[in-house]
Amino acid sequence: MAWYYGTYSCGHEGRVNIIGPIKNRQWKADREFEKLCPECWEKIKLAERKQKTKESLEKAKEMDLPNLTGSEKQIAWAVTLRQQMIEKIEKMEDMEKKILAKRHGITDEDIEKVLAYILETKTSAKYFIDRRHYPHRKYILEEKDSALAYFSEKESGDLEYLEQLETEATVFPEERQTDSVVTIDFGKDYVSASFERNEEFRKIVKSLGFSWDGKSWTRKITIRTGSASDRAAELGNRLLNEGFPIRIYDEQTRQKAIDGTFEPEHKRWISKLKDEKRFAISWTDGSDMYHTARSLPGSRWERPFVTVGVEHYAEVQEFAELYDFKFTPSAIEMMENYKKVLENAEVVKPKKVEEPEQKDGLKELLESGDDIIADLLD
Ligand SMILES: [Zn+2]
Repeated sequence: MAWYYGTYSCGHEGRVNIIGPIKNRQWKADREFEKLCPECWEKIKLAERKQKTKESLEKAKEMDLPNLTGSEKQIAWAVTLRQQMIEKIEKMEDMEKKILAKRHGITDEDIEKVLAYILETKTSAKYFIDRRHYPHRKYILEEKDSALAYFSEKESGDLEYLEQLETEATVFPEERQTDSVVTIDFGKDYVSASFERNEEFRKIVKSLGFSWDGKSWTRKITIRTGSASDRAAELGNRLLNEGFPIRIYDEQTRQKAIDGTFEPEHKRWISKLKDEKRFAISWTDGSDMYHTARSLPGSRWERPFVTVGVEHYAEVQEFAELYDFKFTPSAIEMMENYKKVLENAEVVKPKKVEEPEQKDGLKELLESGDDIIADLLD
């Protein structure tokens, strides 16, 4: 034992105990004093650890990882260990993956499953602290079987749940003509129906305005069609009545299809013609409204509409009431704007101007007798 005294690079004084051959001792002591003193070194290590914990916690939050359990110090440490494990597994070299595949039959997908399994289920800080010396391979080898079992159970659970949902959503009519089920789906602006090739089914969907989009029969939902739920229920109801089993996941819509309580589609509409101040009158109920609509003042046939200028709104409103046509919001807006313009227009009482006497000689000419007029004609 030999104590050497000196000043560390941080400026603090101290002593170091050097062992070994005497001739090297001073040199070894000098190297020691080039470092920080033990207290300063500790402080720096502590600050580094805190920084790492902070970063790891931020990353864990970003990845939505579960919180770890344990003492505060355990958690601070384990969060960093967990982060290191994730990074090492994610950055595994292809060569290393090939070896795992060859020696242990572990696929890339298995590796992903192991990582997901550990992150989802290992929430005790102790788990990571106990494995602090593990190379990442060891995590994979250790957890592979549990991870695969965990996910296969989860998948079969999902599948079972999916089947249960399908069963709940399926309705069979009393007199069914097929066991295959038509799936009716809808979003805010569409309704779609999928089924095997079937001529009768095709006729039904076509008659309700559906068209084939390459994958399924769909109908675009607009202000004129009513809600997607009502149109889906209408289709479902029609299909049930024709003996087709249907599947609609939305409970309310399914019930409307069974009860026939959907809002029927309104088929007579007065819209606004694009970029023009004209009403566009249309009807899709198969009735013959053409001549009646064309009797409106200033009407035009602009396929597929009869159009009428907004200045004739009073007549159009009367027509709408008489024949049960509905106005779309944009048609109403056009009409209201037009009325406002009319209200604000200046109303004047024009002064009448007496016609001045003709001084062009023609009058005199005309008054001068038949023989002269005759001269002006051929
Ligand atoms: Zn120091």
